[in-house]
Amino acid sequence: MAGIYIHIPFCKCFCNYCDFYSITDSSETESFIRAVLLETAMQARYLDGETVETIYLGGGTPSMLTAGQTGQIISAVRNNFAVSDDPEITVEINPDDVYEGYFAELASIGVNRVSLGVQSWNDKRLKYLGRRHDARQSAKALQLAFKEGIVNVSADLIYGVPGMTTGDLKNDLEETFAFR
Ligand code: SF4
Repeated sequence: MAGIYIHIPFCKCFCNYCDFYSITDSSETESFIRAVLLETAMQARYLDGETVETIYLGGGTPSMLTAGQTGQIISAVRNNFAVSDDPEITVEINPDDVYEGYFAELASIGVNRVSLGVQSWNDKRLKYLGRRHDARQSAKALQLAFKEGIVNVSADLIYGVPGMTTGDLKNDLEETFAFR
């Protein structure tokens, strides 16, 4: 099964634990998108006609892009590769980037799965990790995703933070499963 992953290398700030490549200068966003469109066209033959079943925008922070910018990238993949009729299209989301209507905008450009960077339901731990959001924002983001029609949702959680117990992990899992 073929899938295409595109890394969106922008973050508003850096979390303490993270080794992924990203920059905080979002003034480069438009030129980055132009480069992705060119690269997508250049790599059009890379999969040699194989059907692409999944498209995944990860990061970095893909939710720093507008839905329009995200749509440009997805269209470029669709135009240059043999994408299946019903591909899974995923975008990674930071909870603090979400606003009312955001998931509906994503759904309108074909996104049908989101991966939400919840990381923890404990605000102290989120602060320790250097995250920009709090648990309330994660809950709001999950509610909006379901309300606005994206029901295929995953939530990232971090385990192994210094001082964290298996009881803490159990709490995080229970809070997350409450949204099923
Ligand atoms: S937002 Fe994500 S990619 Fe950016 S620094 Fe934090 S963990 Fe890393």
